Amino acid sequence: MLLMEQTWPDVRAYLERCRTIIIPLGSVEQHGLALPLGTDAFIAQAMAQEAGRRTQRLVAPILAPGMSLYVHMDFPGTISFMPDTYTAMIRDCVASLHRHGFRNFLLVNGHGGNEGCIQNAMAEMGYRLPGMKYTWAQWWRMPEINAREDEVGLGRVGHGGGSEAALIMHVRSGLVKSELFGRDMKEARFRTSQDLVRTHVTETGIIDAQQERATAEIGAELFELTVTRLTAMLADLESPA
Ligand SMILES: [Zn+2]
Repeated sequence: MLLMEQTWPDVRAYLERCRTIIIPLGSVEQHGLALPLGTDAFIAQAMAQEAGRRTQRLVAPILAPGMSLYVHMDFPGTISFMPDTYTAMIRDCVASLHRHGFRNFLLVNGHGGNEGCIQNAMAEMGYRLPGMKYTWAQWWRMPEINAREDEVGLGRVGHGGGSEAALIMHVRSGLVKSELFGRDMKEARFRTSQDLVRTHVTETGIIDAQQERATAEIGAELFELTVTRLTAMLADLESPA
């Protein structure tokens, strides 16, 4: 159930039975030669929508672009908000929804660079807005995902890594150039935090990536594990304290 597809009376009626909303967050950021700039956004949006469909919960429009300032600007196409801007966007989105009566917020993040903004925005909103509860999820930090990644030899997510490639093959297969799958990690050492994913560290923009083992089938498995976890998180969010 997408918020954008409802009328305002639809939302008013929804709020009479439920005060929960799911907010996906993503990025517009280079993901190497084979994966689209919208990788993080497409994955988070699909996960949020499927969790919303199964639980009949509303899903807000995705907040993307995200915060990609520090490491991806060497590659054409990346769009980033400043950290303060993105934090304010999350805050304003939550505050708007809270004003209408939403009280339970599940944020589904698809991009590691957004973490600090989410933490700051939600800590402040949790403090300021009466009666609100929130939780947030990142698929690559879920233990069941990491266990499956190890079993199938995908390696951890890295940037544009095997599991990310598998997930985008599942949710938007037509956008993946699998003939360009590869590994990339130049010999360069990381001298400062800003070196990560810059052109002198990785030629193609992926890092710690083992894309060649990615398949849509593995992507579907990881997707299902995540959506299962999200539905459980929604139940926790809505359970009385
Ligand atoms: Zn990504």
